[in-house]
Amino acid sequence: MSEEYNAVIVEDMNMKGMSQALNFGKSAGNNGWGTFLRMFEYKLIFLGKQFLKIDKWFPSSKTCSKCGNVKEKLKLSERSYKYECCGIEIDRDYNAALNIKNIGKEMMEY
Ligand SMILES: [Zn+2]
Repeated sequence: MSEEYNAVIVEDMNMKGMSQALNFGKSAGNNGWGTFLRMFEYKLIFLGKQFLKIDKWFPSSKTCSKCGNVKEKLKLSERSYKYECCGIEIDRDYNAALNIKNIGKEMMEY
């Protein structure tokens, strides 16, 4: 699948949103994920692709993927999250994945 992309973007610590967005499912769970990423990274470099890591402190779940507004509080129990700034209601992991994607795009432009 990496043939189609020039870069793969991952968030350094919280991979949950991204792995769900990419449909890795449960097989890429907590323990196997780090190993999987390392292998993936080597493969991408071998193929001449870029591998981008997002700062682990980036508030990907708290940031509105539409306008960039950052919420102060987000409970872990809030799975679906409402961003009053834009009036959108979106799954928090999906929102986080969108933010990671947006940041990756910006990084690619430099
Ligand atoms: Zn917004």
